[in-house]
Amino acid sequence: MKIIQSPHQFQQEMLQLKQQGKTIGFVPTMGGLHAGHLSLVDIAKQHAEIIVSSIFVNPMQFGENEDLDSYPRTLETDIEKLKSLNVDYLFTPTNDDIYPLGKAKHTSVEVEHLANKLCGISRPVFFKGIATVVSILFNIVQPTIAVFGKKDYQQYRIIQSMVKDLMFPIKVIGGETIRESNGLAMSSRNSYLTDEQKQQASTLRKTILAAAEKLQSTPSISIEEIQADAKKALIEADFKFDYFEIIRQSDLEPATPGDKRLLIAGAGWLNETRLIDNLEI
Ligand code: AMP
Repeated sequence: MKIIQSPHQFQQEMLQLKQQGKTIGFVPTMGGLHAGHLSLVDIAKQHAEIIVSSIFVNPMQFGENEDLDSYPRTLETDIEKLKSLNVDYLFTPTNDDIYPLGKAKHTSVEVEHLANKLCGISRPVFFKGIATVVSILFNIVQPTIAVFGKKDYQQYRIIQSMVKDLMFPIKVIGGETIRESNGLAMSSRNSYLTDEQKQQASTLRKTILAAAEKLQSTPSISIEEIQADAKKALIEADFKFDYFEIIRQSDLEPATPGDKRLLIAGAGWLNETRLIDNLEI
C-alpha cells in the first residue's frame, strides 16, 4: 500500500492510473477504523480495480464544542487493517495540506436543502464541512466510484445530491450498516463508551426497530405517537434526546400517508458521546 500525504503527488498518481484506463474506487474516512469502514473497502473492490482510502479528521465539520481534539486517532493500526485488505493507496493529508489558509478562508460547498434538518440542526457546520472536504478529496482522488456508509444516511444523501448537482463523474454507492452483536451500529466514537454504556447505547437500535414494527403492524397509529414513544424510550435509557424522525428517503422530509420508501432515523447523546442510527423501510 502506497501512503501519500501530499495532495499534488496523490493527484498526479491518480492521473497516471486514469491514463492507463484504470478504474478507481474510493473510501474516505476519518480513521479509527472498524469493521464498518472495512466493509466499504470490500464493496469498493467489487466495483473498481484500484482501491484508495483516505484518513483525515476534517476540522471543518466539527463545531466549537465538539470532539475534534479527542477524536480517535489510531493511524498505525488503521494502516495495518487497510494493508490486510490489499488497499492500493492511502491518502493522509494534514490540515494545512487541505486548508492552506485555514478553514475559515476556504471555499465551501453546501447542500442546504438536505443539510438544514436532522443532524444539521444540532450540528450547524457539520454538513458544510463534509460536502467541502469530500469535494476536495474527489478532485484529488478522481474516483470512478466512491462508497459511503448508510449509517450516516443524511451524509450519504447529501453526497449523492452534491455529485449530481455539481456533475462529478463519480458513482456513489451506499454500504449497509455493520453492527455489534447487540445491534449497536459500529462507530469510531463507540470507543468513548464503556461496556455498560455500549449496552445502553443499543437502545437506539431497539427503539428504531420497535418504531418500524409499530408502523408496519398498526396502520392506524400516528407518526407523532410513534415518535413520542421513541423519545420516551430513549430518555428512559439516559439518552440526551436529539431527534427521532420518520421521513422520506428521497428528500428527508417528514413522511406523509401513502409515502413508500421511508427512513426511521434517531440521534442522541449518551454522556458526551453522540450516537446516530437509522433504518430504511
Ligand atoms: P467516518 O470515519 O466516521 O467519517 O466514516 C467513514 C465512512 O464509513 C462513512 O461513509 C461512514 O458512513 C462509514 N461508516 C461508519 N460507520 C459505519 C458502519 N457501522 N457500517 C458501515 N459504514 C460505516
